[in-house]
Amino acid sequence: MKTKAEDRFEWAVEACRARKFRFTVALTEVLRCLSAERLPINWSDLAKRPAVARLCDPTTVFRIISRLESMGIVRRVGLHSRHTHYVLSAPGDCADYLICKACGDIRDLPVDCPLSGVEAGIEAKTGYRTLFHELEVYGICPECQNPPAATGGTKARSSKSAARKRAAAAEPGRCLSCNPIALSEIK
Ligand SMILES: [Zn+2]
Ligand SMILES: [Zn+2]
Repeated sequence: MKTKAEDRFEWAVEACRARKFRFTVALTEVLRCLSAERLPINWSDLAKRPAVARLCDPTTVFRIISRLESMGIVRRVGLHSRHTHYVLSAPGDCADYLICKACGDIRDLPVDCPLSGVEAGIEAKTGYRTLFHELEVYGICPECQNPPAATGGTKARSSKSAARKRAAAAEPGRCLSCNPIALSEIK
């Protein structure tokens, strides 16, 4: 199931309030970005988002994320990349990802959740409640299978981050999660 960004944000604010997490503009903006972002995000990428960067430095962002993680509001997703990725632990969200082992590209699994019917059965058989699952399917993305001859496989990554930077420049101050980049821009 895919919950709405506003519902995720509301849940996150409530969860912070219940745990007496002191609200700051930076915390609110981090929660807003994480609510809009369905895919796990690298904390340093989050810190570079214009809407976040204008409010606080990367150290503060890391501190906020760590706090949110210790409270169970965000969780780490175990990806094999240099930086740790985080995702909001909003209830009812299906977390199924397709991940490139070469460049670390993460996308939603492009099929209906293969476990959607299974959880109800597990609940009925075991008495467990509020089940959730994470499914990480690894492979090599088309770009990494055919890297441009002259530049090699890392180019795909840098052109992607260049596309993100261009998108950020196009609308300064706006969270990139709310301003998704067209797929054609990334390719
Ligand atoms: Zn790749
Ligand atoms: Zn799923």
